[in-house]
Amino acid sequence: MVNLEAFFKISYGLYIVSSGNKEKGNGFISNSVFQVTAEPAQFAACCNKDNLTAEIIKQSGAFSISVLHQDVKTELIGKFGYKSGKNMDKMTGTNFIYGETGIPIVTDDTIAYLECKLVNTFDVGTHLIFIGEVIQSEILDNNSEPITYAYYRNVKRGVAPKNAPTYIDKSKLKKEEPKSDSHKYKCPACGYIYDPEKGDPDNGIAPGTKFEDLPDAWLCPVCGSEKEDFYKI
Ligand code: FE
Repeated sequence: MVNLEAFFKISYGLYIVSSGNKEKGNGFISNSVFQVTAEPAQFAACCNKDNLTAEIIKQSGAFSISVLHQDVKTELIGKFGYKSGKNMDKMTGTNFIYGETGIPIVTDDTIAYLECKLVNTFDVGTHLIFIGEVIQSEILDNNSEPITYAYYRNVKRGVAPKNAPTYIDKSKLKKEEPKSDSHKYKCPACGYIYDPEKGDPDNGIAPGTKFEDLPDAWLCPVCGSEKEDFYKI
């Protein structure tokens, strides 16, 4: 049998992989970034074929890896992990620098970054694995710890977005006890707070609706996370 819970025992970090040029930059949250060789220093980054960034990396022939710190803002995760650059400019309101290849490198909540020249691409079905050779790297913050995917999941209560290589369909896991009270609930991905007193009028949820009474199909109005991923605050 395959116990999907076993997959959560694999450890990962959490990064923003970005690419582009002065006209259009984009990036996404990746937990599948790893070094593959030392000489030359090469790193791999796995990217869903549907991600706009996949197309942009192919065009620009380079990508950057921003290593996020442990206290990364959920809003940054929400923006780069749960929204598509097809509908918005993710670089607006984001701090970044331009690398030697002209690609944007995100510096928000970043403790170190690497700029890589694309040297190989592997098609693995739903995803592409980009292999890049490091052309420059720098530390921005030597006092903070890099966030791990386990920390994001267990402490920050984050979940993998649907197009992440590590996404797991929650309906295939054991169900938790239903949430039953009139507290506020917070979205683990983007930080949106559901307040029962206010409801969610834009989506037909009247003020006074308890969290437990929201339809199961109700989604975070900001990032589209599922109701069952919310946690009580
Ligand atoms: Fe959200």
